[in-house]
Amino acid sequence: MAREAKLSCRCGEVQGVVTNASPQEVNRVVCYCDDCQAFLHQLGRADLLNAQGGSDIVQLAPASLSFTRGQDRIAGLRLTPKGLLRWHTTCCNTPVGNTLGPALPFVGIVAQAFDADAQGADGAFGAPVGAILGKFAIGKSPAGSTGINLGLLFRAIAKVLGWRLGGRTWPHPFFDRQTREPIYPLTVLSKEQRDRLRPYCGPVPTAR
Ligand SMILES: [Zn+2]
Ligand SMILES: [Zn+2]
Repeated sequence: MAREAKLSCRCGEVQGVVTNASPQEVNRVVCYCDDCQAFLHQLGRADLLNAQGGSDIVQLAPASLSFTRGQDRIAGLRLTPKGLLRWHTTCCNTPVGNTLGPALPFVGIVAQAFDADAQGADGAFGAPVGAILGKFAIGKSPAGSTGINLGLLFRAIAKVLGWRLGGRTWPHPFFDRQTREPIYPLTVLSKEQRDRLRPYCGPVPTAR
């Protein structure tokens, strides 16, 4: 039987399940980029960042994630008009998936969303395979996190291509198959709102 991993927001209102949960089926990396940092500050959930501002993200196939309750408490945020669609809950502001449109099928979920699962993110998906965009890390950049990591890049491309060709886009947890439009309400930050977050983010935050 395929292994499952249970996903939950901090308060438990929103829950979901990931099928085919295994290290081979996902790409788990720690992202230090300033956008991921800004997103969590916007949500008031900087508690999910590691000491250097990193977000521990499990990337998986859209079709392997489905929500089982609390769908009316899911909303999306874009930091810029063309940026990632960053889905989160409205009950407790837990991130539940970063996506692009369905043409590039992947969902990136913070590892802590699997804390409620008995096996946790480590048990379900293994430890992170690397770190990226360390130039935005607060303090010393983690080893191997700056510059382009070709191994990680090829791994991510191969995964997304495999999901696309392998029919793992649909059903998509955040998009309607007919219209290809988002299922949940979406907010785009204004330039002023985006700029207001910058002092909180690496590499050198000035607003702590
Ligand atoms: Zn919640
Ligand atoms: Zn990032």
